[in-house]
Amino acid sequence: KAKEAGRNQYRHYTSDLDKEVNYHIHLRHSLRDPKRHDFYIHYQPQYDAESQKLIGFEALCRWRHEEVQPIGPDKFVAMIEQFGLINEFSQLILQQIFADLKLWHADYPEFQQLKISINLSAKQFKNRELATSINNLCITHGIRPHNITLEITETALIEDPTLALKTLYKLKQWGFGLSLDDFGTGYSSLAYMHKLPLDSVKIDKSFIIDLEDNPDDAKIVTAIIQLSNSLGLSVIAEGVESEQTSRWLQKNGCNLHQGFYFGKPMELKRAQELHVYCQAG
Ligand code: C2E
Ligand code: CA
Ligand code: CA
Ligand code: CA
Repeated sequence: KAKEAGRNQYRHYTSDLDKEVNYHIHLRHSLRDPKRHDFYIHYQPQYDAESQKLIGFEALCRWRHEEVQPIGPDKFVAMIEQFGLINEFSQLILQQIFADLKLWHADYPEFQQLKISINLSAKQFKNRELATSINNLCITHGIRPHNITLEITETALIEDPTLALKTLYKLKQWGFGLSLDDFGTGYSSLAYMHKLPLDSVKIDKSFIIDLEDNPDDAKIVTAIIQLSNSLGLSVIAEGVESEQTSRWLQKNGCNLHQGFYFGKPMELKRAQELHVYCQAG
């Protein structure tokens, strides 16, 4: 019996390993040949619930490859980091986003009022040229840093805090917005928070989704809102799935909302249409 279990375990193990090797091969494939367009970007709207205005979008990457089962960015970004391919990936994604924004900007003058949030992986902060390369993308695509918010997590500071801080201060100085992502899920949020040149804090969806039924979540969210306000930071909630949650947040001092209640991540064309619709309305 033990033998049988052992064999099953072994089989299970190899099949996971096979899967991982398979993903590795195909992710590499997609990264090496950008013309395949296996990576693309979806945009999820962000609203000011009080004024009912669209304020911007978060850029969220997607990967499709006909040879493997679809997986979400949580998984494939982690794999890409593990495989040591984060620099290739980041370059490709940033190129893609800025190419989209260039079109958007050319077609809609109101683009000037939007803030586009871009996720940066902690591993990207090892690159000394990170700030310069993002700024150069702005220049070559005719986008003002003012229209870009970079979402960072506190893990960005773990490996080389001095270098990461330098990068963040440069970006801040050049006019980029900085937002602390996944707030509440890390280890030492409070210790880092006041050292960073932040504009805003983003409350993680794990605290928001179940807000009304979970008193602990409600307490944590209230505390994050108060803390952010007292530090002069704006605060945005992700994972707002219902009108009730949106109302609760407004009543408790958080007006910036992102979530399925307002809109799912969508392709560029639809995001532009939504933008036009909101301008008109
Ligand atoms: P994140 O930065 O916390 O992004 C928010 C995630 O919450 C997105 O998942 C979004 O689709 C999801 N979400 C938004 N509103 C709701 C809602 O109302 N309900 C629920 N259930 N979910 C909601 P997504 O797109 O699967 O991305 C997952 C994570 O992958 C992101 O978490 C981010 O950490 C990472 N990621 C995505 N795109 C990029 C990228 O371009 N670069 C990097 N480095 N990471 C990325
Ligand atoms: Ca984010
Ligand atoms: Ca999050
Ligand atoms: Ca995240």
